[in-house]
Amino acid sequence: MPFSEVLDQAAATDYLKKSVLDHVPQALLFCGPSGIGKKKSALEFAKALNCQDFAARQTGDSCGVCEHCRAIDAGRYADVVLADFLYQARLELKKEPSDKNYEEELEKELAKQQRIKVDTIRDITAKSQQKSAVGGWKVFIVDEAQTMQAEAANALLKFIEEPPQKTVWILLTDKKAAMLKTILSRCQPLQFAPLPEKTVEKLLCQISQETENAALSAKYAEGSVSRALRAEEALSLLQTVPQGPAWPAAVAAALPRTVVAARQQAQAVLDVLILAVHRAWISQAQSAERQQLQQILKKLENYKIAVTRNVSPALTVETALMSLDKCHIELFG
Ligand SMILES: [Zn+2]
Repeated sequence: MPFSEVLDQAAATDYLKKSVLDHVPQALLFCGPSGIGKKKSALEFAKALNCQDFAARQTGDSCGVCEHCRAIDAGRYADVVLADFLYQARLELKKEPSDKNYEEELEKELAKQQRIKVDTIRDITAKSQQKSAVGGWKVFIVDEAQTMQAEAANALLKFIEEPPQKTVWILLTDKKAAMLKTILSRCQPLQFAPLPEKTVEKLLCQISQETENAALSAKYAEGSVSRALRAEEALSLLQTVPQGPAWPAAVAAALPRTVVAARQQAQAVLDVLILAVHRAWISQAQSAERQQLQQILKKLENYKIAVTRNVSPALTVETALMSLDKCHIELFG
């Protein structure tokens, strides 16, 4: 059954299955780090509500193979809308997929996305008022809900409060504390847990068949598949040349050419270093060494802030790697 494809989130998925059978809240808030199955669970919930297989629905789940289930999986079921950065980039591009260079321009538009904007909220709230074509449940999913500024959140508020019949809103967030209280108070919260390391490794192998560092990347994932994917890129960058005097400059030179991509990879590299130094600090018993590691950690945290500003990502990465010079940090073990 499709809910079983959501791995290691039994508490959340059991709650959702029960909701399908008993009572569907008008607004739900899925909380937890990114890359742990929140979006997938929201889509599975939408399938369970709209599945054409009566026997499957009786268990609070979906069949995964009927016309409705397949349409929801393919993102072409009109009553289920996933408003994420990709959806917003498509809206903002104002072009047809058949237009010249569409995919390329969409990718550029997607890289610019940082917030769910009020226009996107207006687009989906208008859809929520339209009559369902098939008379089933309408499900509206807003990803990165914590990025909505007051105008967008306020535009959403009354629709969450008084949705039409058989309509459910699902907001996804990895920073519940950053959300407006007025929104929080109207949503039923549902907590998702970070995934076990083995599960992250398994999912990583499913996503990218060519993965070489799945087990190692999972160690740097803190229970999140998206973090594991970022760690994987960072680790292969850090393995550009063996560790030695030429290492910092060689890794810095291997960063991508475009600033946006270079900045993202530099952040991923810093995340890996911070975690590795933090682990070394935890396992170190000597107080002098602990103090040294703590100072390095502080520096790395500052570099992470610097890289989001106008500091060169290459220079930051090179300096960060040089700061590891005096202590032995195991990165690839
Ligand atoms: Zn089905």
